[in-house]
Amino acid sequence: MTETETQRQKEIAQAEELLFAGPQALGFAKGLFQGHFVADWVLPYPRIPAAQQTELDKALAEARQFLDEHLDPVAIDRQADIPRAVINGLGRVGVLGMTAPVEFGGRGFTQMTNCKVLEEIGSRCASTSVFVNAHHSIGIRALLLFGTHEQKQKWLPKLVTGEQLGAFALTEKEAGSDAANVQMQARPSEDGSHFILNGEKRYITNAAIAHVLTVMARTPVPGSDKTAITAFLVTPDMPGFTILEARMPKMGIRGTATGRFALRDVKVPKENILGPPGKGLKVALTVLDFGRTTFGACCTGAAKTCLRLAVEHANTRKQFNKTLGEFHLVKKKIARIAADAYAMEAMTTITASLIDRGLEDYMIETAMLKVFTTERLWEAINEAFQIYGGSAYFGDLPLERMVRDARINQIGEGSNEVLTSFIALVGMRGPGMEFKEIYDTMLKPSRGLGKAWTAGMHRLGAAVRIPDVPVRSAELRSFANQLGRLIWRFNIAVNRALIAYREPILDMQLVQERIAGAAMDLFASTCVLSRWDAELQFARRNGDSAPQTNHAAGLFLRQSFRRIRRFLSDLSDNDDKAVLSTANSVLGKAGAAIR
Ligand SMILES: Cc1cc2nc3c(=O)[nH]c(=O)nc-3n(C[C@H](O)[C@H](O)[C@H](O)COP(=O)(O)OP(=O)(O)OC[C@H]3O[C@@H](n4cnc5c(N)ncnc54)[C@H](O)[C@@H]3O)c2cc1C
Repeated sequence: MTETETQRQKEIAQAEELLFAGPQALGFAKGLFQGHFVADWVLPYPRIPAAQQTELDKALAEARQFLDEHLDPVAIDRQADIPRAVINGLGRVGVLGMTAPVEFGGRGFTQMTNCKVLEEIGSRCASTSVFVNAHHSIGIRALLLFGTHEQKQKWLPKLVTGEQLGAFALTEKEAGSDAANVQMQARPSEDGSHFILNGEKRYITNAAIAHVLTVMARTPVPGSDKTAITAFLVTPDMPGFTILEARMPKMGIRGTATGRFALRDVKVPKENILGPPGKGLKVALTVLDFGRTTFGACCTGAAKTCLRLAVEHANTRKQFNKTLGEFHLVKKKIARIAADAYAMEAMTTITASLIDRGLEDYMIETAMLKVFTTERLWEAINEAFQIYGGSAYFGDLPLERMVRDARINQIGEGSNEVLTSFIALVGMRGPGMEFKEIYDTMLKPSRGLGKAWTAGMHRLGAAVRIPDVPVRSAELRSFANQLGRLIWRFNIAVNRALIAYREPILDMQLVQERIAGAAMDLFASTCVLSRWDAELQFARRNGDSAPQTNHAAGLFLRQSFRRIRRFLSDLSDNDDKAVLSTANSVLGKAGAAIR
């Protein structure tokens, strides 16, 4: 077997372990890839129940008051530190244990309500929102999701108040995007009472200020010569825990403490294992699903700030005797930010609601949310920056900081390239397996036709039926019909790609990018349509028989549908060969001077 083939087999084995969790309800994204519109997950638009809304309003009011009085994003950026007083205050207003159960001192909020709080923080200071995410969305998430009652009782009470801080340590030199390649070793002691951990982690948010770190390390698989990843709770007071660099100097989110540490023969009691031994990769990826959801909320908040800043400037700054907002090229930027911010909020809310409502597998949706919101925010900041002209370049306005802060979003918690490929491949897995069934049966009819027949009927059924998108507002029917037709076209494109390329599609990232791009816009459009539909229904219930149109939502749908059509047509009309041959010719020159 070649090295590439061995690596491929390893990846397939890992994916199988991660993805196969027995029969599950069909989620929205997986449904899309099969040509279905699984309406129950997205329509009607999720609403926060009245009792929770009251609690949320109270929490938001408290948080806003605290942030208004004590959060200074400029000072945090300049001093490259979030003062302990701010962290204590965040703990006091409940932000550091928002979703932790009440019995352990948390607020017991759902993901949806938690996202509203994080949107507020994200609208003000990216350092603070990343700090909160590192502590709460991912740092203590494995404990919340996989911890035993005893573990929770022991660790959570101090973590949810901020008296102690958490961190999530996955990344190493050789395990960045390739998260499964963790090299840190955890060897069981002879008496089985503890594990001895050795290795280094880098780029870890809160590493040097955390009191409890969820650390991924490689443990032997009993009865074999293999190893697998296991999640451990590690504390810095354990002998051998060494901070190599407490605060790596960096471009943005400068208030966060991103560090490197080493574990040298660190003894970790077996009671500190989180989740099943050997299932750490699944633990890590599940934790990151939560991180990606709150990422969406923070990016939404920041995009709304961009919109506010852009509007303020466009309405006041005059050139050529006109305010900037009178120029069409400025209007275009503002309209785009407004449309995208609306979509980002809708997508965050629906994704969070999928988790709250108990959908078992939301990996594709959270990946879509992360890629979509981080890319849209980057555009929004760039557009707002342009509207401010030269003034944006100086440190007295927030945009210079926002550009620096936002750049990490496309890289952290799974780079957007890796997630784009993931969305396409995991999404296509369902229809791909059905085609494989059909194909294998054609080659070996002795296998029996039963399964292949069912698979063929599924594929055929999706290919002939345009899915219904059941909005309640008559004025949205035309958009809903267009969306249904695009899902149908998307399904045909997915089928065609699977038939045309078969297994090599696993390496064809330019094809994957278009499929993932179309899927993301289909999901985003669905969320926008759902939100708009709910707004219209709400207005009607309140006696408004002719509610005003929502321009931002309408624009988003038009632009999103246009992008989807473009992604699909580019599948057959593209420059892929030229792109790849150019890159190959340049990559081949490595070491030689490139003129
Ligand atoms: C400020 C900051 C805070 C962080 N906080 C944490 C934390 O708290 N905990 C933690 O565990 N980690 C953390 N990280 C690490 C972060 O998650 C990684 O940086 C990220 O996963 C990418 O890994 P890498 O930097 O090694 O890049 P690499 O893996 O070297 O990738 C570099 C680039 O190569 C491309 N690429 C890689 N693989 C593929 C592929 N398969 N297909 C196409 N393109 C590809 C992508 O464009 C990618 O951006 C943090 C990083 C930073 C910068």
